[in-house]
Amino acid sequence: MQVTDAEIIISAVSPKQYPTTGLPEFALAGRSNVGKSSFINKLIRRKALARTSSKPGKTQTLNYYLINKAFYFVDVPGYGYAKVSKTERAKWGEMLETYFTQRETLQHVFLMVDFRHPPTADDIQMKEFIEYYQIPYTVIATKADKIPRGKWNQHTSQTKKALGLKNDDALIIFSSESGEGKDKAWNVISQYLS
Ligand code: GDP
Repeated sequence: MQVTDAEIIISAVSPKQYPTTGLPEFALAGRSNVGKSSFINKLIRRKALARTSSKPGKTQTLNYYLINKAFYFVDVPGYGYAKVSKTERAKWGEMLETYFTQRETLQHVFLMVDFRHPPTADDIQMKEFIEYYQIPYTVIATKADKIPRGKWNQHTSQTKKALGLKNDDALIIFSSESGEGKDKAWNVISQYLS
């Protein structure tokens, strides 16, 4: 897809601030630092529209990016950040649950996990949460450039096994450095756009 227009719409702290255009939304869920902002920037070919985080876990907002005035990327705040207090974590969980369960324009979640390491308990919990609410999702394994190609199969198995995915379930191996997986990610999005 040719991206001709990309803008930050809002960092929403409450559902009242979510856009009311009715345009489709694609959420990026994953731990802080997993590469959500880099994924957005790579797909839309901007260096830094989405701010790559210097302070992981600090953003407790849903960040809306409007692309080609046709759909939104929604950057969901990172989870699994040890320094976030229990209260903050609970607040974050509530916000996320409300968003995932009540947002009718949410089409698909990209669940971002770090390809280098086995998924964490938080990753697994997020996957179960998304499945429980029957939201269509695709796992994106990030930072693939840091793993030699010869080990990709091994890392794919490791990731799928930990997440309880079947062998033929989709997983997109992605790198914001090399652009690996970018076309496959766009293919997922395109299915929802007329
Ligand atoms: P976010 O917190 O999930 O939005 O993660 P960011 O996109 O801010 O990325 C966190 C850090 O990982 C940054 O230093 C990025 O440059 C780096 N990073 C993200 N994606 C990749 C990738 O595919 N390859 C490599 N080598 N580094 C990446």
